[in-house]
Amino acid sequence: MYSNLIDNEGSQDEFSHRPDVQISDHPVYPVRVAPRLSGPGPYRFATICLATLSVVLLISIIAVTARYKNRPQGNGEGTFEKVKQDVNLTALITTIIKLQEEKKQLQNEKDELLAKLATKVEIKPTSKATPGSEVCPTNWHLFNDSCYLISMETLSWHHSKTYCQMNGGHLAIILTAEEQTFLWDLLPRGHWNAFWFGITDGETEDVWKWVDGTLVVGGFWEENEPNNHINEDCGYIVKTEVLARVAIRSWYDAPCSMYLPFICEKKAVLAASTDA
Ligand code: CA
Repeated sequence: MYSNLIDNEGSQDEFSHRPDVQISDHPVYPVRVAPRLSGPGPYRFATICLATLSVVLLISIIAVTARYKNRPQGNGEGTFEKVKQDVNLTALITTIIKLQEEKKQLQNEKDELLAKLATKVEIKPTSKATPGSEVCPTNWHLFNDSCYLISMETLSWHHSKTYCQMNGGHLAIILTAEEQTFLWDLLPRGHWNAFWFGITDGETEDVWKWVDGTLVVGGFWEENEPNNHINEDCGYIVKTEVLARVAIRSWYDAPCSMYLPFICEKKAVLAASTDA
């Protein structure tokens, strides 16, 4: 169109500079007016279509925008929190599994140590033992049907109880004056030599029981003992340098957590026959 205009202008100029040609000699063409958009015909239809499309597009944009605006803001955060929780849970489970494995390993080590402890003292009947007679392992002392061990090490009352059990016995249960005197004679004297044996009132204060659960009747307590002086729930025998002290008044109560030597007891076994 622009080029036509230039052409037309160029044509006019050309004519105006040619004296042989009169402008009026040229026919005047009717001016073509651009059709009005609102006018009838295909333009109107196109306009309506465009308008409709615009409206549809506008509605779509509004709908999509509204949808995103109305979406709960916590949604993204919620997803993030969930992922975070999942990660935490996984870490927790991993830790639990690891701890369980460590626990199992420690349990195995403990079992191994206890097994070694138990085999430390094994029955070694002497060749002098008469077949069928009662015998005790090395370092254990025979009295009636029992063997007694005066420990070389110190443990709390509860650990000494475990030690005796692991060696096939229990902390000594002393029922008679003869048994008490036998043990007393085995104990070394010292400033305050104390040895755990098998009594406790840990379940009910002042109700003393043997380690096999039976009630202690009487006993060989020192005067004014037991007194639970400083929460004392376990019993020991004391043998000092004082010669006036006697076997049948040598029991005291003491805090179970103290580390002391102890007396184990277990059944004596019959010596094997040499005929075999
Ligand atoms: Ca007590």
